[in-house]
Amino acid sequence: MIAHFDVDAFYAGVAVRDDPSLRGRPVAIAGSGRRAVVLTASYEARPFGVRSAIPLYRALQACPHLVVVPPNMQAYRSASREIFAVLARRGHPVESLSLDEAFVDFGECALGEAIELAKAMRAEIYAATQLTVSAGVASGKMVAKILSDACKPNGLKGLVPGDEAAFLAPLPVGCLWGVGPKTQARLRLCGIETIGDVAKLGDSELRAAFGSWGAEVRDLARGIDRRGVRPERETKSISTEETFEYDVREIGVLVDLLRLQAKEIAAKLAREGLSARSIGIKLKRADFSTLVRQTNLIEPTADPARIFRAAVVCLRRAGVRGVPVRLLGTRAAALAARGSTQLPLL
Ligand SMILES: [Mg+2]
Repeated sequence: MIAHFDVDAFYAGVAVRDDPSLRGRPVAIAGSGRRAVVLTASYEARPFGVRSAIPLYRALQACPHLVVVPPNMQAYRSASREIFAVLARRGHPVESLSLDEAFVDFGECALGEAIELAKAMRAEIYAATQLTVSAGVASGKMVAKILSDACKPNGLKGLVPGDEAAFLAPLPVGCLWGVGPKTQARLRLCGIETIGDVAKLGDSELRAAFGSWGAEVRDLARGIDRRGVRPERETKSISTEETFEYDVREIGVLVDLLRLQAKEIAAKLAREGLSARSIGIKLKRADFSTLVRQTNLIEPTADPARIFRAAVVCLRRAGVRGVPVRLLGTRAAALAARGSTQLPLL
């Protein structure tokens, strides 16, 4: 069972929480200036047609008594941290979609059990942040998200496994994952209006309508959703190691290998946008005894030359000159996102 959690009108919810005089009033979060757009609208503003992404001036035309509040990213980030702390508390895998939206994988359990869990988490999020969260619980991500959208605000809905296809069939095809307004308009011309229409398509029609993506779309339309919850991998360390075909006694061979490994580690760090403050080596002697050495750098690095020099320092400290070595590895730890002192742009 997978749950989709989504805070209701997140930015507006935070604004109302922090200024109770806004409660019950139409509120829009927006920047200033002539080109400002609405980032989030409170539920009281929505009947006036005030929605996210519309120009602020138009929102004010539609709803002259709209209260406009500037965004407060710091407050959103701190609320987000509290929300994700609750979602992660029980150890289920969590995939964040944004500051206020996430999938949680409840694993193999009955719908009733999953609903109880989701209910408890919503209550805990409310207790921690005074923000209401809607949640959908289903066997797959897409249905879970459709359910949580459908029960907003402050709702919870679940679907019995096996009922996915019947639930989806009457919904407009635009509810399908990856089908945007353009595709929806094109499909309408082919007489495809609902998800049920997609589920019934034959192979050739499917290819004509969706191209190579067709089979996957039809599976989704039939309620077959194989995408798992992908938690953000928190990289704790990056390492590489090599077992020699024969025992190595020559220190020069070990140094050469460290140079290669430093390059490999640097490339991995670069790929992940990380730098390391700690570099270490692992070394297995021919008698299988293992030894590790590490050194801390003054500044985090992803530079192969600096990683190499640090690894050589470790090798020297290991004092294995003339000792037959079976395995040598390099490891980078104490990882930090590069430039993490800077706030990420939202
Ligand atoms: Mg939300």
